[in-house]
Amino acid sequence: MDLKQYVTTVEDWPKPGISFKDITTIMDNGEAYKYATDQIVEYAKKVNADIIVGPEARGFIIGCPVSYALGVGFAPVRKEGKLPREVIRAEYGLEYGKDVLTMHKDAVKPGQKVLIVDDLLATGGTIEATIKLVEELGGVVVGCAFLIELTYLDGRNKLGNYDICTLMQY
Ligand code: 5GP
Repeated sequence: MDLKQYVTTVEDWPKPGISFKDITTIMDNGEAYKYATDQIVEYAKKVNADIIVGPEARGFIIGCPVSYALGVGFAPVRKEGKLPREVIRAEYGLEYGKDVLTMHKDAVKPGQKVLIVDDLLATGGTIEATIKLVEELGGVVVGCAFLIELTYLDGRNKLGNYDICTLMQY
């Protein structure tokens, strides 16, 4: 399946100059959403992940069906102030802005093999912060999977030697 036909590009959103890849037009098509999820499930099996970690909010949309399909857990990464128990935190820079990400202190157990999932890899800032959080908890990042990679923003380089799977490149 050519997944790109289900991605909608929105120019100048959320700011002038940003060419936003809207994935809701993948999600609202059952076949496309299932196909995209299945590709990441196959990758998760290959890297032998035993928990999925995803940043809010679109990381949940991709990560949770993968967790369900594999029968493994899902641990959410959230913006500051959203998780109810003790958290660890990491600052990061976005393609447009700056923010803080948090995880519950017990969300990942030491030695767990973690697959990090998000909808899109841009500069890599979000995933770099997520990797920091996972590793601080003692998790082993076995891979990072995305629907979309914006190759011109060079996020892959920022992530160095981590194994990366992307279904579409722009
Ligand atoms: P990065 O941290 O790699 O620069 O940006 C990636 C994060 O920003 C992801 O969590 C992603 O959801 C969001 N993001 C940035 N640009 C886009 C875009 O064009 N489309 C979508 N769907 N998400 C984006």
